[in-house]
Amino acid sequence: MTKDRHDHPLHRETIAASHGVATDPAFGAVAPPLYLSTTYEFAGFDRARQYDYGRAGNPTRDLLCDALAQLEGGAGAVVTSSGMAAIDLVLGQLSGDDLVIAPYDCYGGTMRLLKARAARRHFQLAFVDQSDLVAVSDALGRGAAMLFVETPSNPLMRIVDIAALCRMAHAVGAQVAVDNTFLSPAVQRPLALGADYVVHSTTKFLNGHSDVIGGAVIAAQEQAAASLKQWCNVIGTAGSPFDAWLTLRGLRSLFARMREQQSTAMVIAEFLHNHPAVAKVHYPGLTSHGGHELAGAQQTGFGAMLSFELAGGEAAVRRFVAGISVLTLAESLGGVESLIAHPATMTHADMGKEARQAAGIEDNLLRLSVGLEHRDDLLADLGRALEASADTTIPLCRHEELARAENALRKER
Ligand SMILES: *Cc1c(COP(=O)(O)O)cnc(C)c1O
Repeated sequence: MTKDRHDHPLHRETIAASHGVATDPAFGAVAPPLYLSTTYEFAGFDRARQYDYGRAGNPTRDLLCDALAQLEGGAGAVVTSSGMAAIDLVLGQLSGDDLVIAPYDCYGGTMRLLKARAARRHFQLAFVDQSDLVAVSDALGRGAAMLFVETPSNPLMRIVDIAALCRMAHAVGAQVAVDNTFLSPAVQRPLALGADYVVHSTTKFLNGHSDVIGGAVIAAQEQAAASLKQWCNVIGTAGSPFDAWLTLRGLRSLFARMREQQSTAMVIAEFLHNHPAVAKVHYPGLTSHGGHELAGAQQTGFGAMLSFELAGGEAAVRRFVAGISVLTLAESLGGVESLIAHPATMTHADMGKEARQAAGIEDNLLRLSVGLEHRDDLLADLGRALEASADTTIPLCRHEELARAENALRKER
């Protein structure tokens, strides 16, 4: 546990809010300074200081690394230029014969990376449904070196049992990496459940303001952390100091944001669940969700991501999208602004229709990242868009025309 100057233990909320605050020896700056310098003066002949070159280490980036390591309860962390770079850094620890087991419904970019690396024979690869523990056990039995886990899954919010998967993997000597992007350490801590690595797209909830692409790996063991740090320098995938500074600034409010955003998400999930224009809601906070109990056990909340299926088909989706005004139609998630995405034409378009259907991602599915707006505004916006989605009396082109006119008006204002 992290302690203060007088050895008192600190809560993780305090670490997020104040790690590195008022530690500037030069001027006593309260907000940690941003060090952009790429290089550092030697103290004398053959006398390097703590830092020598910015690819290997940077004080601003290291502050973020330390904060993330403490929040996830790891031995150390590296901060990378993107979430994909973070995942690739972990995969870089594997060699040709190693078998990686990944979820069949993992993040699209992760799937693309895994397949591309496996095609180059950087490791062997198998995709499984990780909620099927027999299938996981079979795959692990083939001599797996790494189990890659994502929970909740994107976009259907399926929950898998991190502790059970870790026990099974460790029994055959495999390591476990968990992508914790969808919840952040404020809501779920995979290392405490037995994982060896946590990876993040800090682009999402950790930064929380949709203005930085970044990533991080947190390792449970000291040696693994040191190895990652070394490789990060070898291949040069560290994040920029400015991005680290912005992300640290975003991290200050992580716990408060998550609290508010997931509380609004719960209200919205219930509203959607009871709306006639909605066929199905995927949110672990609802008792009707298959992973509700598991999520309640391994998470401290239910997160701010949900998805739902409209009662109509593609035309209903088009009408819905034309009807939104507070919500923004965009990819990504975890920011203070609520974003809605249509997986079939946006985040999961590359997958192809067949693979989408196999994974249960239908054309009428919408994914919602709940932000910090007043919940009544979000509910009203969703209500209007849902009404529009079900309103077949107005031709679709008229809905879209009205949306364009409204947008033009908004831009003028
Ligand atoms: C966005 C995302 C990534 C990739 O992160 P980037 O920062 O976009 O490279 C990986 N995993 C999950 C779950 C994500 O949502």
